[in-house]
Amino acid sequence: MVKTSNRIFLSSPHMSGFEQDYIKEAFDTNWIAPIGKNIDYFEQEISQFVGTSGAVALSSGTAAIHLALKLLNVGRGDLVFCSSLTFVASANPILYQGAEPVFIDSEPITWNLSPQALEQAFHYFEKEGKLPKAVIVVNLYGQSADMSKILDICNHYNVPVIEDAAESLGATYKGKASGTFGKYGIYSFNGNKIITTSGGGMLVSEDLEALERVRYWATQARDPARYYQHSRIGFNYRLSNVLAGIGRGQLRVINERVNARRNVFDIYNNELSSLDGIEFMSEAAFGRSSRWLTALTINPKKTSVKAEQVLDALESENIEGRPVWKPLHLQPLFKKNLYFPHSPEGSVSDQLFQSGICLPSGSNLTVEEISRVVDCIKEVFHEC
Ligand SMILES: *Cc1c(COP(=O)(O)O)cnc(C)c1O
Repeated sequence: MVKTSNRIFLSSPHMSGFEQDYIKEAFDTNWIAPIGKNIDYFEQEISQFVGTSGAVALSSGTAAIHLALKLLNVGRGDLVFCSSLTFVASANPILYQGAEPVFIDSEPITWNLSPQALEQAFHYFEKEGKLPKAVIVVNLYGQSADMSKILDICNHYNVPVIEDAAESLGATYKGKASGTFGKYGIYSFNGNKIITTSGGGMLVSEDLEALERVRYWATQARDPARYYQHSRIGFNYRLSNVLAGIGRGQLRVINERVNARRNVFDIYNNELSSLDGIEFMSEAAFGRSSRWLTALTINPKKTSVKAEQVLDALESENIEGRPVWKPLHLQPLFKKNLYFPHSPEGSVSDQLFQSGICLPSGSNLTVEEISRVVDCIKEVFHEC
């Protein structure tokens, strides 16, 4: 008889048990709407947790990036620099605004935006006489980019930063919450993130007036009048009060969730780092990663095992693995856009894409499930 084992997911939702109380309250008070107490409290609780003056709850992290770009007046023909090694949602909103993304490579230690490549890009466009309107910096797989260096460069050119912290809620950089270093920061509560509302996002900032404008845009830009009057383009981007209730229940256990993911990483690291050719994404001394996903590379100089083989083996054991993000400069969607590699010798993100994989990393994984993943990978390496 074939042994069938349950599927192990890459990152599945992990409820705390507190969510139902907040949802019930939304039902009891009949605030099944994009306004209500859960939204107000969820915004306050997030801004308290990360230490910003304010926050606006939105329907997705993508919507938050979109409205951050709008706050910075990014429009048709403008340039926006963006990390290349990321999910497409980091850059799609640049296109929504009719602007032009320019992609920046990663540096090898954190896999995040390379300050070196960023400088190259600024030099190039300074000569062209056209600076970007914004820089979108992604904190990949839960690890903060080297924000001090990046901000020094951007401040020199007087260009504001949007921090895409969709994967790094609960992480820190130099002791301060990830997502709070740019002019605007965004978080995602998609189903596979550190905490979830099933779908949702948050925009944080010190600029309360800007956040008010975001609230206005996100509710169809309705003018203050008895009738429905609109002077500007608006969006339907507010989070539901029911979903905000899920978020409040989730946020209560954020620290446990981050610790659990870091623990998952530690087990993989202990069990697998001795295998020839396996190199885990390192954690820079300047920060504490949320380890949203455990990511590793398989060095082709040290082993004949290919990343694809490992993914195939995992799939055959009913385990969901995933290649590292395909860099955006390699996407057909962005084939006309410029790209600045880390060094003339080569692109770091191309390398990471070719050799990198992500392992199941959910905070709800059991020790047995992690062992199944570990055993499966060990087998591939010992067979080769
Ligand atoms: C998930 C994610 C987003 C988008 O968030 P949604 O809430 O799914 O819209 C943006 N950037 C990165 C890096 C992400 O991982």
